[in-house]
Amino acid sequence: MLKSFLRQYWLTGAATIAVVASAAYYVAIGEPDNFQNVKKSKNKSRNKLAGLVNEGNTCFINTTLQALASCPIFIWWIDSILEKPSSDAAGNCLETTSSLNLTMAVINNQHPTISADLFNTRQLIQSLEKHGWNLKSEEQDAHEFFNMLFTTIDEEINKKSKIVKGISIDDEQDTTTVCQSISSSPFRGNLASQLCCLTCGHKSVRYDAFECLSIPLPKLDMRNAFTMLNVQGLLKQFLAAETVGEVQCDNCSVTNGKIVFMKQLSLGKLPQCLCLHIQRCDWTNAGQLTKRQDLVKFSEELNVGNVVYTNRLSGNLKPVTYRLRAVVEHLGMADSGHFVTFRRNAVDGRAKWFYTSDTYIRTATLEEVLKSSPYMLFYERCA
Ligand SMILES: [Zn+2]
Repeated sequence: MLKSFLRQYWLTGAATIAVVASAAYYVAIGEPDNFQNVKKSKNKSRNKLAGLVNEGNTCFINTTLQALASCPIFIWWIDSILEKPSSDAAGNCLETTSSLNLTMAVINNQHPTISADLFNTRQLIQSLEKHGWNLKSEEQDAHEFFNMLFTTIDEEINKKSKIVKGISIDDEQDTTTVCQSISSSPFRGNLASQLCCLTCGHKSVRYDAFECLSIPLPKLDMRNAFTMLNVQGLLKQFLAAETVGEVQCDNCSVTNGKIVFMKQLSLGKLPQCLCLHIQRCDWTNAGQLTKRQDLVKFSEELNVGNVVYTNRLSGNLKPVTYRLRAVVEHLGMADSGHFVTFRRNAVDGRAKWFYTSDTYIRTATLEEVLKSSPYMLFYERCA
């Protein structure tokens, strides 16, 4: 596991800590009537989001939640998991999903009864800890949290489906047959890995599911420092064809170990929401963890039409366009720093951008967003 970018939220200054400390005591989850700053409101301001309290080095959680909350398709999916539990038992096993749903609704100012300026993630953290995750460890980052969250939601969907179908929880039945009633995560896509035997030309394809594509930066000694990197180029490079050896060919019978394959990655199944993680952690020759500060350009619209799987040799590549919803940025160095998010308002669609840093929220311009240094990018499919 990579060490976290973020260790010391405290570095961001005593003033911020004071704000968090004074705000934390009156922010509640689940018991809004007991807390003074949580108002019952029917008049929603569409231009308002709630901030998230830092529970002690938890900006990696807050940043991910703000980014996810900007994706309407994701929110709809979380809602659909929680729809009509057929029994209390089926509903009770969805603790993390329920906490997440509540958090999304409150920070987006879309909860039917709760309106808050600040919210805390304590209940969500506790539910994840019940699933065995250690969130108090200092080695955490936003990408790891994203994976942790989706693994846990999967576990809960699986458990719910088993309860609904009367299957024992311990029964290790294939989840794909058990969970048919719930569609898979909108972030789930498939990476097609096509192998072509260079001896006989035989082709085979393997599909691997992903929720987030983790894209490496070119090695420092391999890149021209004067060339600006961009997401489209990094994605293409990540998927680029390469030769691989020592793979058994199902078709030809050459067994002298000299069979070489051409391996080509592409997007086999496109997700509705596309999450890209830029691998900025690197190790020096001395074994020290460093952070790559490379500037990576990205655009509001991302066309992935040229990396979609096709079994044809040529053809018209149709554009497949995604629109930017959120950017997670890491500020600081490898062993200290802070995560912030630029995100759209989930309600107003394209119009509005916000900058969120734990409890602090302000509006932002698209120009400012596009100048940020991306660690994770969240896109939603639009065509
Ligand atoms: Zn072959």
